[in-house]
Amino acid sequence: MNAQKWLAKAEAEGFALGAFNIDNLEIFKGVLAAAKNKKAPVIMEFSSGEEKFVGVNNIVDLVDNAREEGATILINLDHCPDKAGIEKAIKAGFDMVHFDGSKLPYEENLKIAKEVVPKVHAKGLTVEGEIDHIAGSSGVHSGKLSQDEIKKALTNPEKAKEFVEETGIDIFAAFFGNYHGIFEGQEKQVDFDLLKKIRAALPGTFLSMHGGSGISDEQVKEAIKVGGIVKVNINTELRQAFRDTTEKVLSEKPEEYAVYKIMPTVISAIQEVVEHKIDIFGSVGKANYA
Ligand SMILES: [Zn+2]
Repeated sequence: MNAQKWLAKAEAEGFALGAFNIDNLEIFKGVLAAAKNKKAPVIMEFSSGEEKFVGVNNIVDLVDNAREEGATILINLDHCPDKAGIEKAIKAGFDMVHFDGSKLPYEENLKIAKEVVPKVHAKGLTVEGEIDHIAGSSGVHSGKLSQDEIKKALTNPEKAKEFVEETGIDIFAAFFGNYHGIFEGQEKQVDFDLLKKIRAALPGTFLSMHGGSGISDEQVKEAIKVGGIVKVNINTELRQAFRDTTEKVLSEKPEEYAVYKIMPTVISAIQEVVEHKIDIFGSVGKANYA
């Protein structure tokens, strides 16, 4: 099944696909172990920085090997700001791409999206777009994000409708109180009224929720149920599990130098985070794992 079909299945059955950012082999292994254990379809996604670090062809080979062992994985290019990056990912064998022109003036975002979408569709692939530059960044921050910054990035449903109709994107990255990263002094608050308005303005378009880390489980479940969210992006909580657990293992075993003996604990910590997300997203048992 291609990405379009998986998203349609998620929408019809009321679950969301977890879109997990992969920084390195350990995070890849943790996400894969969770997907297998929960028999869940997953999106493995790579930002431009992550894609450059892991290597575009390595990504496709890793995922192909996992698929041969029975895993259901879609590969997404996350927040790509340019056409060249998208073309590279398509050529390498990615299933989905997210063109993020939200930092550009609106007219330019629109213009490039209109060029990108037919190219992606010609390959039978799926494309995501966005118009609001998401606040925050995927990391753990002390303090709070200002209400002004959060409000600035909220989606205007009418503008979203215009963008979707003009470009033909398949997935719209909607902002309704979600933002990137975890801010230790603050819990994210989903604006359900706004989410419902966005959904009503975009019939036939899939909705994604970025910044899924640090939103309460109840709010995420509700966003999937009443807001029609079918893709939830998770990055920060994986990075947090990686870093915190690596530091813990290293401090507990100062004499250990064999990386392959240090990392299994880290991989298990990531697996645990992902399994919990899969439970919340309702995607348990949705794929046939060998
Ligand atoms: Zn994002």
